[in-house]
Amino acid sequence: LPTFAQDFDFFYFVQNWPGSYCDTERSCCYPRTGKPSADFKIHGLWPNYNDGTYPSNCDPSSPFDRTQISDLVSSMEKNWPSLACPSSDNTKFWSHEWNKHGTCSESVLDQYEYFETTLNLKAQANILQALQTAGINPDGSHYSLDKIKSAIEEGIKLTPGISCNVDGSGNSQLYEIYLCVDSSASNFIDCPVFPNSNCASSVEFPKF
Ligand code: 5GP
Ligand code: 5GP
Ligand code: 5GP
Repeated sequence: LPTFAQDFDFFYFVQNWPGSYCDTERSCCYPRTGKPSADFKIHGLWPNYNDGTYPSNCDPSSPFDRTQISDLVSSMEKNWPSLACPSSDNTKFWSHEWNKHGTCSESVLDQYEYFETTLNLKAQANILQALQTAGINPDGSHYSLDKIKSAIEEGIKLTPGISCNVDGSGNSQLYEIYLCVDSSASNFIDCPVFPNSNCASSVEFPKF
């Protein structure tokens, strides 16, 4: 292996709620393809160590190349949009995720496989459905964090990590859902370690 290749223990597969990105003080911009659907979106697939630390930017010689994933782009636009401003074609976000995280799992997944695998994981873990089945809807009201966790455990049989951010009025809101995947990117696993939850005990689930 080249010297930049770093081993890692597992992946975090991270989805986020677009409503919680957009209603912050910073606001958001829809991508040039238009407003994404009201569903959780992919944030990234992140190699991680069991002690909670993680490698990043592992291979500067492997730049993001949109032409390698052209047949994935329409699914990426739907499932992995960038809501940062100014409005974009998402290339900057995907490139950031590849450079920072994807290059650290190149021993397992090449660039095409990295994005393809992440899209497949999304199709296997329907967070919104699990929440709605439990009566937890993106309607701007507040829900108990414990109930959100139980609903996801019940629906997809995995304990999630959950992170929150704050809306423009300072309310703690549901932002990111972390699930864990084994280091070969084949199976969901119980998380070896969870990210620190910064959520209040009751959190807003904003509309989008
Ligand atoms: P934040 O500081 O907003 O929590 O995270 C900023 C960025 O750091 C994330 O978008 C992600 O790229 C990276 N990051 C944060 N926490 C973790 C983690 O626990 N594991 C990994 N692999 N990356 C993380
Ligand atoms: P991370 O470093 O946390 O993996 O990714 C966050 C970086 O990607 C930030 O620099 C952010 O500006 C950029 N980015 C672009 N579009 C988005 C988006 O829609 N959501 C998030 N969370 N980050 C985005
Ligand atoms: P980064 O510097 O990694 O792009 O982003 C730093 C933090 O600001 C991340 O939590 C990211 O999600 C957030 N962020 C970056 N750009 C935007 C934006 O245009 N709108 C919103 N709402 N958040 C952003």
